[in-house]
Amino acid sequence: MPLSANNPDRTSWLHVDKNSDFPIQNIPFGVFLTRDDIITIGTRIGDTAIDLGALHQLGYFDGIPLTDDIFLQDTLNDFIADGRKTWRLVRNRIAQIFDSDNTTLKNNKQHKEIVLFRLDEIEMQLPVQIGDYTDFYASKEHATNVGTMFRGADNALMPNWLHMPVGYHGRSSSIIPSGIPIHRPQGQTMPEGAEKPVFGPSKLVDFELEMAFITTDANDLGEPIPIDEAEDYIFGLVLFNDWSARDIQKWEYVPLGPFLGKNFASTISPWIVTLDALEPFRVETPKQDPKPLPYLQFKGKKSFDIRLEAAVKPKGAKETIVCKSNFKYMYWNMAQQLAHHTVNGCPVNSGDMMGSGTISGPTEDSFGSMLEITWRGEKPVKMKDGTERKFINDNDTVIMRGYCKNDDVRIGFGEVKTKLLPVFSPQKKK
Ligand code: MN
Repeated sequence: MPLSANNPDRTSWLHVDKNSDFPIQNIPFGVFLTRDDIITIGTRIGDTAIDLGALHQLGYFDGIPLTDDIFLQDTLNDFIADGRKTWRLVRNRIAQIFDSDNTTLKNNKQHKEIVLFRLDEIEMQLPVQIGDYTDFYASKEHATNVGTMFRGADNALMPNWLHMPVGYHGRSSSIIPSGIPIHRPQGQTMPEGAEKPVFGPSKLVDFELEMAFITTDANDLGEPIPIDEAEDYIFGLVLFNDWSARDIQKWEYVPLGPFLGKNFASTISPWIVTLDALEPFRVETPKQDPKPLPYLQFKGKKSFDIRLEAAVKPKGAKETIVCKSNFKYMYWNMAQQLAHHTVNGCPVNSGDMMGSGTISGPTEDSFGSMLEITWRGEKPVKMKDGTERKFINDNDTVIMRGYCKNDDVRIGFGEVKTKLLPVFSPQKKK
């Protein structure tokens, strides 16, 4: 099926700023609460949010096999489960409805009042009910940096790392959309030189600059997904800040891996940008040496050129960009991750989310966590307001942005933004 929604020559009758992440070629999917307190599935062109539930009720999706209530839901799971053919039909239709040459909705004032919203009239929600969340560790630069810090340069990469996309099962209950503040976690740590662990607030709260992909129903128990088919089951991507408490993580992670140092919060950008919209931005995956086992071998361009940045904004001050990275640096691509995840027969469902792992690039200014940027705190970062950061302070806001750009079009993700509040205090809640 042609991806007519991607036509770079198309313009919309809705206003789109030149540097918008959301031109008519993007057409992401999200869930929002409207000014009338109604929850609906929607999309966005420029700074206009579009209620797809209302559009469907008004007949604008006639001819596409959709159930009546498919967009009148508080998650995208059922729509995602409809599969890639339906996602494409819907994106193509939305592109038609808002094309500059199409006056049907444009000239219908009454319909426009029902369907269109300004961004300040809506409140973005978590777009999917995430059943299972897996986090990979797929950036070679990140794994090498962390390994060097904890085990020395000679043993930086574990022996398995170059042979498989290493990952762990995370926790979905603490995944939240952009804009919701979180508290500094407390936990057990083993201070340097101490003989016994202590309990208290984490002193080393960090971000991880990641992206995550969201899947559709892919396979039954026992059935691996072949690597050539893996991308058919990827609905789209979001920006992903995988908050981490490094001191808790360091004490707890042997031998079973990350636990409370990771599961206190992870934040995603609210608009899911479809894999289809990212088609023009395919690039080669970094060279893989040694050659992976046959089930991880792939053909074609399976990585994506997505420019990423992370900024820290102290309370009442301007933000400072602390790193610029790119999704294309990932050593293991998404198709390899999904093929590996299911090669043992593990089933993947609609709404599952898979994080890339911290995306660090080759240079110091492209490292995707404070742990790496400040090298365990040894090289603090100078902020625009004159203060310094080793890790994230109370009342700092961490902001991540991402977009793709070529000569024709810019497709972006907007931002994911989270403020770190001080440790939770029961008195203050009242
Ligand atoms: Mn992570």
